[in-house]
Amino acid sequence: MRQKIIAGNWKMHKSRADAVSFVQELKNNLGDTRVDVVICPPFTALAAVAEVLAGSKLALGAQNMHWADQGAYTGEISPLMLQDCGCRYVILGHSERRQYFGETDGQVNQKVKAALAHGLLPVVCVGETLAQRQGGLTETVVGSQTAAALAGLTPEQVAGLVIAYEPVWAIGTGQTASEQDAQQVNQYIRALLAEQYGQAAAAAVRILYGGSVKPANAASLLAQPDIDGALVGGASLKAADFLGIIQAVG
Ligand code: 13P
Repeated sequence: MRQKIIAGNWKMHKSRADAVSFVQELKNNLGDTRVDVVICPPFTALAAVAEVLAGSKLALGAQNMHWADQGAYTGEISPLMLQDCGCRYVILGHSERRQYFGETDGQVNQKVKAALAHGLLPVVCVGETLAQRQGGLTETVVGSQTAAALAGLTPEQVAGLVIAYEPVWAIGTGQTASEQDAQQVNQYIRALLAEQYGQAAAAAVRILYGGSVKPANAASLLAQPDIDGALVGGASLKAADFLGIIQAVG
């Protein structure tokens, strides 16, 4: 039985003060939940949020990372720095990074390997654009992004990963993939991993869905057999909405 994850990706939002009051509210109202809850604030709020989360069931994640431990990489943040801030997870290869900052499959692969080498849990994002979906290329695109991001990993490493299927056309648009469409792609990713890394790894890896997830659609998406959680953008910015999603799935 795979443990479900609800992860909030705040993207470029919230001051330190806003971040701290959000997680305090979340902590106070979370109650008993069976899901793993992860908060991914911007870098500037990681340390402040870590202090509030200490000793709670909530985990901290970052939204990006460089692959090197240190060096002359102006503006970048290393795996060691994320560890130092108390991160357990790191989102890698988000479509906004690929689209606006030219992040390549090869770079995502380097980042995934570096995260694993430092004991951080990667949340590897894959997903097709609207044009690619309309051109019948969803599985080709998602399959090649997944294979490239995971190249060179062992089955044991793959088993511990988190993958997030986020169709680009569903991000921030209010246009959620239907639960059937999301299930179909997640199932395809799992089948691909079974071929490449074996049945045990494929059965263990957690595959999330992301793209306009909200309290009203979370339960039906997460009821699908291959959807092991949600990566939430807009609806993770208000504690009431984010709590609504967590509560909708148990
Ligand atoms: P929205 O939930 O705002 O569509 O964003 C999804 C996302 O990109 C999470 O990483």
